[in-house]
Amino acid sequence: MQNYQEKQSKSEQFIPMNVDLKHDWKVDEILDLFELPFNDLIFKAAEIHRANHEANKVQISTLLSIKTGSCPENCKYCPQSAHYNTGLEKESLMAIDKILDAAKAAKDAGASRFCMGAAWRSLHDRDVEKICNIVDEVKKTGLETCMTLGMLTEDQSKKLKEAGLDYYNHNIDSSPEFYSEIITTRNFEDRLNTLKNVREAGLNVCSGGIVGMGETRNDRAKMLIVLANLPKHPQSVPINMLVKVAGTPLDKVESLDEFEFIRTIAVARIMMPKSVVRLSAGREQMNEQTQALCFLAGANSIFYGEKLLTTSNPEMERDQKLFEKLGIEGR
Ligand code: SF4
Repeated sequence: MQNYQEKQSKSEQFIPMNVDLKHDWKVDEILDLFELPFNDLIFKAAEIHRANHEANKVQISTLLSIKTGSCPENCKYCPQSAHYNTGLEKESLMAIDKILDAAKAAKDAGASRFCMGAAWRSLHDRDVEKICNIVDEVKKTGLETCMTLGMLTEDQSKKLKEAGLDYYNHNIDSSPEFYSEIITTRNFEDRLNTLKNVREAGLNVCSGGIVGMGETRNDRAKMLIVLANLPKHPQSVPINMLVKVAGTPLDKVESLDEFEFIRTIAVARIMMPKSVVRLSAGREQMNEQTQALCFLAGANSIFYGEKLLTTSNPEMERDQKLFEKLGIEGR
C-alpha cells in the first residue's frame, strides 16, 4: 500500500507535453496503425498516453437514465428503441429529487462527473427549462454534469451552457458508410450538426462510437477519423463494445475479438492524444486483464455504478478491487 501511495505522489508531479493536434488523418495512416504488431501499437499508444495524461489516474463518471425507453429512433443496438421489444421497463422524466439522490450517491462513491441520459430523438423546447433546472441542481452537489438528450439546436445548446452544463454526449456511433446499416431514422449529418451546435455553444463534447456491430476494421478507422478530424477533438471519447441485448436486431451479431477492441482504444489514444478516452459500455463482459490492457493502451475514464443506462455495469466494488490491483487512482 505504501508503494501505491508513493506512486500516486510521483504522478502528481506530472507535466503534460505540448503537442500539435492533428486533424487531417487519412484512412491508410489509421489502417497502418491498426496493423502494427500488437505490442508495438500498445507501446506507441502508452507512450503518447503517458506524455499527455497521468498514467495511473482514471476519471470516473456515473450514468443515470433520467427518461427510459419508448424512443422513436431505431438504433439497432438499443433496448430503449420503441421499434424493438426487449421487455425494458419504460419511465418518463424522473423527478428532480430522485435525480439528486442518485447524484449524491455517485459523489459519495467517488464519481467526479454525473451523466444523465434521456431516450429522446431530440430535446423538445418544452423540456428545456426542466433540464436546465436539473443541471443547476446537480451542479450544486459539486459534480461535473453531462447530458445526452438526442439532437440539440443551436439555441438549446446555448441554454444548456448557460445553465452550467459541462459536457454534452452525442456519439457518432459508426463510420458514415456503416451508419445506415444501424440507424435509418436519422442520418450521419444530423449527428454532426448537433456536435457543431454543442461545440459552438462552448460545451465540452463527449463523442465516440460503438464497435462490434458487424462493421469492418475500415469502418472503425473511418469512425475514428471523423472524430479526430472535427475542428476540435472531442474532450471525451467513449469507445463502446456492443452489449448484445435480446430483442434488438444486433442480438446475434458475431462478437468482436477483444484484441481488436484494445487496438481501437490504442488507435483512438494515438489520434486524439489530449482527449479522455473512455472504456465505456461492454466492460462487464470483459475480464480484468482486457480492461488492464485498455488502460495501458490509453483508456483513462470509465463509467462506474450499477447501471449503464439500461444495461448493467460491473459493480463498484469489483472496479475498486481492480483499481487497487493495478495501482490506479479513480477520480
Ligand atoms: S441510442 Fe438513443 S436515440 Fe437511439 S434508440 Fe437508443 S435512446 Fe433512442
